[in-house]
Amino acid sequence: MIKIHILQTGMVSVDIGVPLAQPNPLAKTGWFRSEKHRVRLPVRAYLIEHPKGLILIDTGWDIAQRAHSVKKHFGFLPISYGDLPAGMAINEQLASLGYHPSDIDAVFLTHMDMDHAGGLQLVKEAKHIYASDLEIRDAQKIQYFYRYHKENWQNIPLQAFSFESSGIGPVGCSYDIFHDGSFVLVSTPGHSHGLFSAVITGAEGYVIICGDTGYMPKSWEELWLPGLTVDRKAAKRSLQWLQHKSKDEHCIAILATHDPAVQPKVIDIQEDIK
Ligand SMILES: [Zn+2]
Repeated sequence: MIKIHILQTGMVSVDIGVPLAQPNPLAKTGWFRSEKHRVRLPVRAYLIEHPKGLILIDTGWDIAQRAHSVKKHFGFLPISYGDLPAGMAINEQLASLGYHPSDIDAVFLTHMDMDHAGGLQLVKEAKHIYASDLEIRDAQKIQYFYRYHKENWQNIPLQAFSFESSGIGPVGCSYDIFHDGSFVLVSTPGHSHGLFSAVITGAEGYVIICGDTGYMPKSWEELWLPGLTVDRKAAKRSLQWLQHKSKDEHCIAILATHDPAVQPKVIDIQEDIK
């Protein structure tokens, strides 16, 4: 059995222009926008109990978020406010399932935005911690200072993986974790260059963990681009791929990190015995 635990790792309060692109270019920064444009969305992480390994996807916020934080983490850009109530830090969520970070075989970051990489210090005892080489490259770049926070991975043995040309996904690139097709990280760029959507396949179908490729079903149904993109054309192609998958009868669920309609729960899928 493959078990996908949908974990709650806090909330994020963002301008509506962040999840959903709007004509107002200032929406992204939050400047000159009133509170009524803000929406409060969940921040999810996912623990997957797979017969071949215990995998964590994303880590939510840094625990410093609990104290307060907006200024500390976001400087002068009121782009997103984080909130991490007691019990919701990634290590606390793991503990509630009976796991210690050292039990985790590998952490994979869908991308390195601070609401996904923020909890890295809390799980640094995991056996391996990975992000795509494209994402690690961008996270060093000064022009993306407003979204990546290097304290998140300071002193962390972060390893790079590279997408391989496979013909899978919107750009034909993916990374197969177990080399058997059961857990494939599909490159879905647009919101960031190194972003992936994880496709976890069992006997009866597959579940997609899409990170911020889309924010909610409307994103892929209507091709609503994320407000924050590094490549709008790529973002659209990635959403078209999700849309195509969403209509496939074998697609059990598409889980977006900030989709308010998806509650914490466990999805069980029968392993595909080959
Ligand atoms: Zn996010």
